[in-house]
Amino acid sequence: MRIVLVGPPGAGKGTQAQFIASHLSVPKISTGDIFRDNVSRGTELGRRAQAYMARGDLVPDEVTIAMVTDRLGEDDAQNGFLLDGFPRNVPQAEKLSKLLASWHTKLDVVLELVVDDDEVVRRLSGRRTCRRCGRVWHVSFDPPTKPDVCDVCGGELFQRDDDSEDTIRHRLEVYQQQTSPLASFYADEGILLGIDATGPVEEVTERALASLRRFLR
Ligand SMILES: [Zn+2]
Repeated sequence: MRIVLVGPPGAGKGTQAQFIASHLSVPKISTGDIFRDNVSRGTELGRRAQAYMARGDLVPDEVTIAMVTDRLGEDDAQNGFLLDGFPRNVPQAEKLSKLLASWHTKLDVVLELVVDDDEVVRRLSGRRTCRRCGRVWHVSFDPPTKPDVCDVCGGELFQRDDDSEDTIRHRLEVYQQQTSPLASFYADEGILLGIDATGPVEEVTERALASLRRFLR
């Protein structure tokens, strides 16, 4: 099964990617992992990507696409994969379709984790990070015994700028701007499948797998 997973920050996409991929026995392929792998192996593409990242620039599509192409060409991806973090925009989606067509195959489904903005804000803005050991707590879902004190090391907890409501709302806006055209692109192809990603992690995984089975039947 060839799947692309999309979802806003705070939707638990990384975790779901892992669970769904392992249930379906396909590799989880994330652009973050591919970047790190190319950089650590010192490949030509890795060096090019690193040069952009070191300047704080976005890695251009052509470099990302070349890395993804290499990765999808590996043996373990021949019977399916779950892509996380790619494609990010319509031009990348078009490139991916062409690549797969040249291999006489195509995507089966694009799974979209749907969570409303207020829920994302509630999840992310409750995070507190330990100044000393870096452990991340959550005021509602994973609270420390004493407020604002780390159970592990006794360090002081604080809210990172990334976890402030303003930053989260801005990231959600950016996500919507990037993703709505991508979602329409795949909806037009008839392969967009949205699932409700609120609730416990295992329930979301079950819901996703059940929807995938129905969709592919
Ligand atoms: Zn700590």
